[in-house]
Amino acid sequence: MTATPTKLTTPDWQSFIRDVPDFPKPGIMFKDITPLVADGKAFSAVVDELASHIGSDVDAIVGIESRGFIFGAALAQKLGLGLITVRKPGKLPAAVHAVEYELEYGVDRLEIHRDALSKGHNVVIVDDLLATGGTAAATVELIKTLGADIDACLFVIELSFLNGKQALADVNVRSLMHVD
Ligand code: AMP
Repeated sequence: MTATPTKLTTPDWQSFIRDVPDFPKPGIMFKDITPLVADGKAFSAVVDELASHIGSDVDAIVGIESRGFIFGAALAQKLGLGLITVRKPGKLPAAVHAVEYELEYGVDRLEIHRDALSKGHNVVIVDDLLATGGTAAATVELIKTLGADIDACLFVIELSFLNGKQALADVNVRSLMHVD
């Protein structure tokens, strides 16, 4: 009897992303990554794929609150790098730099600790999803204010039809999965 050869395959982590229609408001198709991170093999596969986009000249990972922390922390730990957190207002305890950015309705604000990074650092920004690019562009601005360089912005999912890359024109953008 001949043994069936074992086929090594990359886990199909994309199928673990759940589409939730009309969340958080009508007309939005929310890309829910909770089933993906709840599955050990799928989570590990996506973190491995993210890691494959990060060069040895990168000093730190910048995670954007809050789903960027999930992927950013796993990635930083895997690569032996530090994680810098970019947070919603009032969460960081020490002195911060802040930037305000436009939402569809109103304005939001992100903050970073002033001593988190400085000139000479080279970072990769990580978030779960690129939509209009406003959140990532605000994060780019915060990092530039501190004098650090941005190697790339890295996303698990990119909603290509929203042209978020336009808001990140002078930054290298990489996304693992594109939604047209
Ligand atoms: P934006 O600033 O428009 O690029 O929005 C990106 C941020 O909003 C990311 O932190 C995402 O987690 C979140 N986001 C925007 N649209 C969606 C969506 N359709 N599904 C899941 N998250 C989204």
